[in-house]
Amino acid sequence: MGFFKGLLGMKPLQPTATERTAYSGVPESDLEKRLEHMQEIPKTNEPAQAIKPSAPLPEGTPVVGLRIDVDTHEGMRDGVPKLLEVLGRAGVKGTFYLAMGPDNSGRAIFNALRPGFLAKMFRSGAPKLYSARTMLSGTLLPARQIAAGFPEIAKRIASEGHEAGVHAWDHRSWQDKLNKRPSDWAANELEKAYESYVSIFGTKPRTFAAPAWLCDNESLIYEENFGLVYASDCRGTDPFFPVIDVRILKTPQVPATLPTLDEALGNSHESAESFYDFILKEIKPGEWPVLTIHAEIEGGPYAGAFEAFLAKARERGVAVVPLKELLALRLATGKPLPRCTLSYAAVDGRHGVVSMQMFEV
Ligand SMILES: [Zn+2]
Repeated sequence: MGFFKGLLGMKPLQPTATERTAYSGVPESDLEKRLEHMQEIPKTNEPAQAIKPSAPLPEGTPVVGLRIDVDTHEGMRDGVPKLLEVLGRAGVKGTFYLAMGPDNSGRAIFNALRPGFLAKMFRSGAPKLYSARTMLSGTLLPARQIAAGFPEIAKRIASEGHEAGVHAWDHRSWQDKLNKRPSDWAANELEKAYESYVSIFGTKPRTFAAPAWLCDNESLIYEENFGLVYASDCRGTDPFFPVIDVRILKTPQVPATLPTLDEALGNSHESAESFYDFILKEIKPGEWPVLTIHAEIEGGPYAGAFEAFLAKARERGVAVVPLKELLALRLATGKPLPRCTLSYAAVDGRHGVVSMQMFEV
């Protein structure tokens, strides 16, 4: 029973004590009414309905959404400018998700006590990818700000035509504490990140992406208050509306579908080149794949391999687009988005679990 309950919702709903109104459905107890109510909810929300592809693609063009996660101070300072150069040369736009607040990534060291993470550290060559300063950030040395520390670099993302969204306030804490904190903890983190975004960009964020593809019922429901066009909080197969305890949320999810380089290296693939060749084969017309890259990795030691991937994608006629454009292209097919449940699942090469798109209901 516990297993099936888990498939219908990631965590039992608890009342939230927050300033914004959480999504209000009908009382939990009346299942029939809840199912009726589910039929009444429109299949899409207004902000998502309003988006149109900026350039319609010829039929049969393979497309991939590019999601760029910025998780650390150094990723923001060095990785983002590097990626802006690489993307500029390739004429490609992507969606940058920015961790806004303190870089506590040094706390990851404490996770090294867990054997799975230790193995992953060695496999991904983390000591090479992250400098000693990053590894110590928030532990022995004070935490430095991520996007909030570099407003000019953040603004360049938007001025160069990319999409920018909120990744987190404190990325590391979200990853470590989401499921261990009271229900309003996530709401406060989302609020802090939202305010920080507004103070840098002067506009409201239109998309959020949960750190480490990890969300829960509370965070998904709370996100409904921000008027987002879409969110990218989980792994999955294609864009969908989340169903939480027989409630359909109005913010569509554009899930990450493809493995990441750090999951693959030394695990399923021996080199970045062979990983990217595999990714190219996975991008097929009529599907809606999303690739996640990291400012710390593809904007760092693997920038060359990523640039080579973009060149090959172009040769093969693959359109690499921001996630909003991918969703717009998907909605332009006229086929309604599926409604799917979420659960937690492990992915190959990654420590712990991620939130995963599950069954269509
Ligand atoms: Zn991240």
